[in-house]
Amino acid sequence: WYGQDSSAQEEKIFVAVRVRPLNERELGKNDVSDWECINSTTIVFKNSLAERSLLPTAHTFDRVFGTEAPTRQVYEEAAKKIALSVLSGMNSTIFAYGQTSSGKTYTMTGITEYTHSEREFVLKFSAMEIYNEAVKDLLSPDGGPLRLLDDPERGTVVDKLIEVTLRDFDHLRELLSVCEAQRQIGETTLNEMSSRSHQILRLTVDSEAREYLGRDNSSVLTATVNFVDLAGSERASQTLSAGTRLKEGCHINRSLLTLGTVIRKLSKGRNGHIPYRDSKLTRILQNSLGGNARTAIICTMSPAHSHVEQSRNTLLFASCAK
Ligand code: ADP
Ligand code: MG
Repeated sequence: WYGQDSSAQEEKIFVAVRVRPLNERELGKNDVSDWECINSTTIVFKNSLAERSLLPTAHTFDRVFGTEAPTRQVYEEAAKKIALSVLSGMNSTIFAYGQTSSGKTYTMTGITEYTHSEREFVLKFSAMEIYNEAVKDLLSPDGGPLRLLDDPERGTVVDKLIEVTLRDFDHLRELLSVCEAQRQIGETTLNEMSSRSHQILRLTVDSEAREYLGRDNSSVLTATVNFVDLAGSERASQTLSAGTRLKEGCHINRSLLTLGTVIRKLSKGRNGHIPYRDSKLTRILQNSLGGNARTAIICTMSPAHSHVEQSRNTLLFASCAK
């Protein structure tokens, strides 16, 4: 599977939907589930309260995961092939998209760990956060915002981003908890922060490792897989009140909206202008989106009736990415 394959089929964005179980709070309010995964590719709106749906009742994606699906299965069926294409020298990006508390972080944390445990090659790890259109190194507590540079050979490069060579699985665990602690600084809760910031975890296979694949070892290129835990998708539509929050809202709108535009254009083929440069997120990911790269999007959602509007928005985004 890891041979270079440029068929149109392979270049399509892989789109999956994952529905988390109702949580305690939702159950406590006697909330009900609106959605059912009737087979491995179809999710159906059950319309439990006989409300008119603006979207068709059944939605089909490359893969849908119901409440009972463990993250291991999501990894195996929606992420593994794309993440491991890094071993054949291909860049890739796996996104988690969805409203706050729908399960993005829960899903991406598991997937990043599984990918690492499958490794056969030397990996480097780096981690950044985009908050307010400023890029921060999650491995450098005191560092200021990072600059993006245009390198004639490598494309957009994040200047001075720390890269750590991973020793083993515990080392990755350690680094992931450093990143998590960094994300919390200055905020009351992790969820509040993560609802407004984009996190990119990056594993890079260095060129030394690629020699084992019989590639031209004079190549300076390295292959990268990005795990992107996006800001809550409610931020794409929400208008925030005033001051800082309003500014934050605008920036987050820009990143998520630009991502949406880029994804939609890529899903329709690669002709025409793709506005990668309109946001930090898409600039940083440009080399790993489109072109010779692989992309998967895992859209997470709550099944709860109280979240039906956001869940519909999420499925609309997912449909546009197909
Ligand atoms: P997000 O990152 O989208 O804001 P989280 O990943 O933090 O959401 O998930 C919110 C809560 O729901 C967490 O407590 C998480 O453990 C739980 N959760 C999310 N997805 C699942 C799932 N598929 N199965 C069980 N619990 C889940
Ligand atoms: Mg989160």
